[in-house]
Amino acid sequence: MKAKKRQNKQGKIFIISGPSGSGKTTLLTRLIQDKKIGKLLVKSRSVTTRPKRLGERQGRDYFFVTKDEFRRLLKAKKILEWTKYLGYYYGTPKGPVENRLKKGKHLGLCLDLKGTRVLKKIYPHNTLTVFVLPPSLSVLKTRIEGRCRETNKKEITQRLRLAQRELLAASQFDYCILNQNLRVALRELKKIFIKENSV
Ligand code: 5GP
Repeated sequence: MKAKKRQNKQGKIFIISGPSGSGKTTLLTRLIQDKKIGKLLVKSRSVTTRPKRLGERQGRDYFFVTKDEFRRLLKAKKILEWTKYLGYYYGTPKGPVENRLKKGKHLGLCLDLKGTRVLKKIYPHNTLTVFVLPPSLSVLKTRIEGRCRETNKKEITQRLRLAQRELLAASQFDYCILNQNLRVALRELKKIFIKENSV
């Protein structure tokens, strides 16, 4: 009884995944902007070696670090899970996740497939996964091109190729939502969060 009570008190991990350009980061950010939900859910900030994009801020979007710093964090076991995506490293800082869960509070993360699988394995009972589907590959291409304006064509092609592979994994998720219209997709996401957390 006591053990069950302790497990119930543990916070939940709310993972949003989907191909680059599916809108998963915007959806998670908007979800947290909801007054009621924002009191319960905070976004985990990943560490990455990817260069900062226009408009991104250190500590808000990511903790941008060098390869050496990333390796140092890995060696010191300060990264809970990590991935290499198109040549750059991305990782979830361990401390903030563990502290938050221990306090019974929830965490939202935007992860690739590898990260989603690893966290589901570490926290099988309190991880909820949502896959965000783009309306079509051509819409996805337009979104990626818009975002990668300051990067090269090669990266756009690589992101698109990866996206096609990622889409095949949608059925492995607890929920799938279609992001054709941001407002509708956000409504769906809120419904899922409320249902799973009885907000
Ligand atoms: P982007 O360069 O578009 O910001 O991110 C590339 C991919 O890496 C996205 O699918 C994003 O969700 C994923 N990602 C970002 N941070 C992490 C992380 O800490 N761990 C894992 N596994 N994936 C991450």
